[in-house]
Amino acid sequence: MAEQDDKTSHLSDAGENTRATHLGRHPQDWHGIVNPPVWHASTVLFPTFEALVNRPALQLGTTTYGRLGTPTSHALEEAWTELEGAAGTVTCSSGLAAISLAFLSVVKAGDHLLVADTVYGPTRHFCDDVLTRMGCQIEYFAPTESIDQLSARMQDHTRLIFCEAPGSQTFEMMDIPAIAALAQDRGLLTLLDNTWAGPTGFKGIAHGVDMVITAGTKHLVGHSDAMLGLVASGPRCWADLRRTQITMGQCAGPDDLYLAARGLRTMPLRLRQQTETGLTLARWLQDHDQVHRVLHPALPGDPGHNLWKRDFTGACGLFGLVLKHRDLSALAAMVDDLRLFGMGYSWGGFESLLLPVHPPPGRTADPWPEDAGHLIRIHAGLEDPDDLISDLSDALDRYAGKP
Ligand SMILES: *Cc1c(COP(=O)(O)O)cnc(C)c1O
Repeated sequence: MAEQDDKTSHLSDAGENTRATHLGRHPQDWHGIVNPPVWHASTVLFPTFEALVNRPALQLGTTTYGRLGTPTSHALEEAWTELEGAAGTVTCSSGLAAISLAFLSVVKAGDHLLVADTVYGPTRHFCDDVLTRMGCQIEYFAPTESIDQLSARMQDHTRLIFCEAPGSQTFEMMDIPAIAALAQDRGLLTLLDNTWAGPTGFKGIAHGVDMVITAGTKHLVGHSDAMLGLVASGPRCWADLRRTQITMGQCAGPDDLYLAARGLRTMPLRLRQQTETGLTLARWLQDHDQVHRVLHPALPGDPGHNLWKRDFTGACGLFGLVLKHRDLSALAAMVDDLRLFGMGYSWGGFESLLLPVHPPPGRTADPWPEDAGHLIRIHAGLEDPDDLISDLSDALDRYAGKP
């Protein structure tokens, strides 16, 4: 809800931890119970003919049909809107659903779209498949290219710039405020996948972004047990976003919404700890003789560090690692006998993960060097750093072929 009710107005000036703890909770409306109820609903009954014909259509915060929102979705959307400083938030069934919804709320056939070359792989696939089929023209640009170079790519029919910072898998930073200012100057929109930092680490709307997308599946849920996506919108796109969400039938399940709202209460705390543990691992890895390079914008010396330091107030436990050259059997030996690190997709949960990844071979504007060593993505969980380092140390010994 764009408007805060009187009961929560004291939170506008409070710190981020206080806000994450209290926003979107109305125990007085829920029999004093601390957390919002999980409302399982399709049908919502109207007591009279008059109530039926006068039902509110698109307003957030009203309950007229399950798909259009329940007190469970309203509670999370209200909190997220406040945290993002947005005009409004919609929740979706997954992070990727949130990305596709944000695009589809504002593009039409014939539009030219500028998309960072380092976006999350499935985002790129959505652009190349669905948006191209719809008649949009997608142009990829290198995340680190200058504002002049980006400006030179703009055409009369350019509609938006889609960013992700740092980039998926390879962690390049982008100058989001400069890109958003250029877009505004040219009458274009800026969309940002902010899953890595989240609203406590980077305030997209305050930096000029029109729609900030978060895969809530990651840190917000935080326990690897639910799927959720959120789009927070500034005033320019809010009406289009909400209308398109309803038109396309996008909504999230009540249990997943509940788990996300519950995760929000500890998200800043988990993020701080996981950032710290991640940096401890990154520093240790930086000095290891099997490691070619660590990719982590919050690490001093990283090519994106200055931008990160200037614009971000936080990070997370996810970073990359380029190993020294060895064959695939060395990589298999390294990852097959991990004790604590799990190997699997997604991230943002309480447990550590380690995953060999490949930047899309189709990266066109900013190709990843073919001859780079194996690329690894590490997600630092809440385990003790010393235990994680011991697991990594043994893994890198196996990689090096040490008995
Ligand atoms: C995981 C992820 C998504 C997609 O989220 P899902 O909930 O898995 O659909 C989008 N963007 C980034 C950066 C991600 O890491």
